[in-house]
Amino acid sequence: MITLAKNIQHLVDFIVAKARSHNEEEIFKLNHYVWIALLMLPVAIGSGAYNVYVNNYALAFLIILFSGHMLGSLFLIPTIQKTYLLYHGANLLYTFLILYMVFHADAENSRILWAYIYPVGIIFLFGHRLGFLWSCLLLGMIIGLFLFVPEIHTVYNIPFQVRFGISYLVVAVISSWVEYHGSRSHQALLLEQKLLNEEIERRKILEKELQRLAQTDPLTSLYNRGFFLESAEKELKRAKRYNTPIGFAILDIDHFKNINDTFGHPVGDSVLQVLAKHCLNSLRETDLVGRLGGEEFAFLLLHVNEEQARAKMEKLKEELSQLNVAYNGDSTLNFTVSIGLAMLSEHIKSLDELYIHADKKLYAAKDAGRNCVR
Ligand code: GH3
Ligand code: MG
Ligand code: MG
Repeated sequence: MITLAKNIQHLVDFIVAKARSHNEEEIFKLNHYVWIALLMLPVAIGSGAYNVYVNNYALAFLIILFSGHMLGSLFLIPTIQKTYLLYHGANLLYTFLILYMVFHADAENSRILWAYIYPVGIIFLFGHRLGFLWSCLLLGMIIGLFLFVPEIHTVYNIPFQVRFGISYLVVAVISSWVEYHGSRSHQALLLEQKLLNEEIERRKILEKELQRLAQTDPLTSLYNRGFFLESAEKELKRAKRYNTPIGFAILDIDHFKNINDTFGHPVGDSVLQVLAKHCLNSLRETDLVGRLGGEEFAFLLLHVNEEQARAKMEKLKEELSQLNVAYNGDSTLNFTVSIGLAMLSEHIKSLDELYIHADKKLYAAKDAGRNCVR
């Protein structure tokens, strides 16, 4: 039974998924309508066939009309925009069918029993409030028939009418109550899902922030030493595989200790920030820039030969020496840098070797009097 219900649910999902509406409430109603249609169709078709068999053509016609409408609905769901017309149509047809059956009672006056399906289905479809109202409306119309059509009194006697009315109302109230509780748990579930999604989003943002914090240097927002070297290693592998030139440079601010001692540590920090910002803007987006520590920075220059890399570093060194770093409101200071450059080559193959060579060149630049590229 559970497997059958699951299979029907798959079929329902398959049909409803094709609906053009994206309104959550409408999709929810369609889901219920398709369920009702799939359950009612075999019963309605069987009942229509039986009435043809017993030559009850008028009733057979109405039942076949109702079945045809439900069957057609399943195919119309993907094509029409106003899908609510489908279940409102089915509702009106069924209401009319019930009234017809109450009015044209059979010898055993048992046709009226089909009325009990109505509150269960309509409350499932329209919810506990609107569904209950529709159920009461149908009951009102049946009571109207009881009261105002004298021929009916010979078919349904007064105790029958009273028992029918009360039992129908009990079914409507219980269905409504069950639906009310069901929808409350559904809403609670939706709320929980919403909160869960919000929490997932919050954690994603947090994770990104944590990742950013783990990869960047808080003062300059450049890649920190660890992440720079890790990224450089990857780029180096790629450059080797595609045999493209690559340069590695280390930059060190000249006499930075003096800047700190003369102007104070916060001004030293500003120098580091100004330098970092300029390097980021000046180099290509594909080049890597990182802060190795203190006043030392590193660059991985992609797709450049030695001549181009040197020219690039010379230009950067020159630009940096022109920068004015503001301090004490309207005063400015200048600084210079020394740069050591190493290129990937036959003899220098790994990142470690690049690092060692660039560092040696940096020392050479310092020895040569600073403010130069070696
Ligand atoms: P050289 O030209 O030989 O490189 O001399 P230098 O003074 O730049 O080098 P040294 O290694 O003697 O001094 C580096 C200074 O950088 C010392 C340290 O206090 C300072 N420093 C390191 N990190 C920071 C930082 O985050 N902020 C500031 N303001 N200073 C820093
Ligand atoms: Mg240093
Ligand atoms: Mg220095």
